[in-house]
Amino acid sequence: MCRFFCLQLRPCPYLCQPVSSSRHYTGMAWFTRSEKGISTPTENKLEAPDGLWYKCPECKAVMLTRVHKENAYTCTGCNYHERIGSVEYFELLFDDNQFTELNPELTSGDPLGFKDTKDYKNRITDTIRKTGLKDAVRTGYGLVGGQPVTIACMDFSFIGGSMGSVVGEKIARAIDHARQSRSLMLIISKSGGARMMEAGFSLMQMAKTSARLALLAEAKVPYVSLLTDPTTGGVTASYAMLGDFNIAEPKSLIGFAGPRVIRETIGKDLPAGFQSAEFVKEHGFLDFIVDRKELKGRIAGLSKMLMG
Ligand SMILES: [Zn+2]
Repeated sequence: MCRFFCLQLRPCPYLCQPVSSSRHYTGMAWFTRSEKGISTPTENKLEAPDGLWYKCPECKAVMLTRVHKENAYTCTGCNYHERIGSVEYFELLFDDNQFTELNPELTSGDPLGFKDTKDYKNRITDTIRKTGLKDAVRTGYGLVGGQPVTIACMDFSFIGGSMGSVVGEKIARAIDHARQSRSLMLIISKSGGARMMEAGFSLMQMAKTSARLALLAEAKVPYVSLLTDPTTGGVTASYAMLGDFNIAEPKSLIGFAGPRVIRETIGKDLPAGFQSAEFVKEHGFLDFIVDRKELKGRIAGLSKMLMG
């Protein structure tokens, strides 16, 4: 690169010219504004309201937000499945978005008086204010394609979809509801794992939800587990992998520990596509991968087939 900083990446043709040479700085015009300020008259400015466009992070295709939504929040170009929350899943699944929410007011306590960068109590109130959610899962029941279904759907935007005592309790109560009403149970998982701020209380939820699922199985009510991007940690190690059908969205990250931890533990490089839904299915842990656009039809179909 020219040592006089004319910013040419190759040695510039004027290499070693003194700084005072006028020729040496010809490139600098690119960085100098010839006109100052914005000169477009107001009537010529184009309106582009916020949130009108969606840009796919995978293939960079740009589409109208409305088109993206109509496409079940998947990219029209490469079928990338955008991460969505319970509001969107409920809207996609329940007929006419009609459902009854279960235990909507349940919020987390702070049994350990936990404090990291801020108090856990404050973190909860801040997240409730920011997301409009009470905790990392919402549960409800209604009709999906005319079939009664109880759904528990996790929200990653609430402290990384972490499983604390509220998540465990709401899921346990939703399972009880499915058992009593004899409706198919669907859990949509999206989680970073256990909620560290609740330590042991968080880990107990794995046993609690698994025990309730055993009761559900005893009552012969089917349970479908949908794993979405990402499903990891204590959630994978409990209810997410206990479905009569374990299904996943395309290319979701599914695993227990992260790839770096595994690589360091086994001291080997990991195979390509490791922990993707496709890889997990190939190794026998998933029944099928479902495109989000077909999800409602598949759930209604499973309910019809299993519940008669
Ligand atoms: Zn795309």
